[in-house]
Amino acid sequence: MVEILEFERPRKRLFLALLALSLCVVAGIVYAVWHVSYLGLSEISRYLPLILGGLLAAVFLFTGLGLVGIVGAILGVPYLSVFQRKTYALINLLFPIAIMLGKVFGFNRRKIERSFIAVSNQIIHQQHLKVPADRLLVVTPHCLQLASCPHKITRDPMGNCQRCGRCDIGALVALAEEMGFHFFVVTGGTLARQTVKKIRPQAVLAIACERDLTSGIQDVYPLPAVGVLNLRPNGPCYNTHVDIAAVRREIEAILLDEEKD
Ligand code: SF4
Repeated sequence: MVEILEFERPRKRLFLALLALSLCVVAGIVYAVWHVSYLGLSEISRYLPLILGGLLAAVFLFTGLGLVGIVGAILGVPYLSVFQRKTYALINLLFPIAIMLGKVFGFNRRKIERSFIAVSNQIIHQQHLKVPADRLLVVTPHCLQLASCPHKITRDPMGNCQRCGRCDIGALVALAEEMGFHFFVVTGGTLARQTVKKIRPQAVLAIACERDLTSGIQDVYPLPAVGVLNLRPNGPCYNTHVDIAAVRREIEAILLDEEKD
């Protein structure tokens, strides 16, 4: 099946709406459990249902404020660091429910993941993250390399890619040379995690499909990871491409201008 990525702008509000709905569903379930156990708890102590109810309400309030914090972060409103730290914990917790609810409302998983990536990128940009080039790691999947290319570019694309121009790896190698960031081609999540461990970057820019970016961004947290979607004119995982101008824009947005500093 030929798969071409649509260039429609991902709607951040889709993911945020599903996240809010997920929170309401969780709150409803927790309330139902509390209600059912009310009588049993009050037999132990008449204060117990109140104490438990108060605790659950406090957790719900904190989580709700976290969600408000995410919306604030997207709009550029500064929010408390305690909520910043919990942002992805909250997202990780509610993400499977958001996907399920999305399916109920007829949104496919990929569209929701695209919306999540847009939300995550926006949060990072609003934090005005700036890192030196040698602390930025750019990783891309192996499928970006031309399938018939004989050169082994995983682990050492800078040394082994001949920059023949037949796939986008050459352009990324040239960009890495020009800008000075670390660039690696990885064959899967394990190698990606090993590379992050080895390089110890301050930020990551990952090029991949919706599924891999979503899990990767959540995996490396609290390390900030910007995601750029790959293009798949030949179907998934085969001779994929990336918009090099978009990659350059994203990198320029997070690179520290060393001449100024
Ligand atoms: S640009 Fe590099 S990786 Fe791509 S086909 Fe040419 S030599 Fe192979």
